Amino acid sequence: MAKKPSLKTALEREPNPFRQLKIYLEHELDKPVPWTRLAELLGISPSRMRRLGCGSERPFNPITAERWRLAYFGKWKQLARYQDFIVDLASKRRVLTNPFGRVLRFYGFKWNKNKKTMEFTEREEALAFTPASTVGDMVKWMLPRVNATATKYGGELLTTTHDSFLSMLPDIPEVVASYHADMKVILEREWPEMDSMGGITIALPGKFRCRTDFTTGYNWRKGHICTTDCKADCVLVNPRGQFDYQEKAA
Ligand SMILES: [Zn+2]
Repeated sequence: MAKKPSLKTALEREPNPFRQLKIYLEHELDKPVPWTRLAELLGISPSRMRRLGCGSERPFNPITAERWRLAYFGKWKQLARYQDFIVDLASKRRVLTNPFGRVLRFYGFKWNKNKKTMEFTEREEALAFTPASTVGDMVKWMLPRVNATATKYGGELLTTTHDSFLSMLPDIPEVVASYHADMKVILEREWPEMDSMGGITIALPGKFRCRTDFTTGYNWRKGHICTTDCKADCVLVNPRGQFDYQEKAA
């Protein structure tokens, strides 16, 4: 289950300074601090607080949430069936195996005195395991190959984040084009491992592949060239940043 994040993590995740302050106070006082109280402490009006993007969080409405959940699973009928299947498999066999053969054992069972049955307590972990570990194993398969390709062209693999790779290459269009072509072969390969996904056989064996996006630029930030729609002091301006890679017609 998702654990409550630490104060440091919670503050790092929250860009709004007023919300950061609220998080900090609630942590220190160990109780909820209403926005009205925070506005009072800061000496500003609650309406100003709301204009700053803070205050009057809509109270959680369980009826709306339930309707939303039902509509979601109504639209993705296979998903509900897949989830039931995975939970059933994990609770009966107490083990799940991902398409790469990676195994996770489950020990979360609790005796229900009233029903006189064992209850499975790791539903969320079971549901997360196959997709999360599969992406992890795909990336691990790719990593040495991406590294070797970057090195082959005189570059370097700098970092990887979840499902993306960042490489540095010599600033030569032909080199970038060749690297792009090689990377497409690696990243958009067919994955025969995926023919059996958590015990479910997929419809088109050997045909599972992932489309990839490539961007190139001279710095790590998203590229942005200002237009007449931008403000005079547009903070996004970054003409040397990352833009979608354009393949030249052969
Ligand atoms: Zn701009």
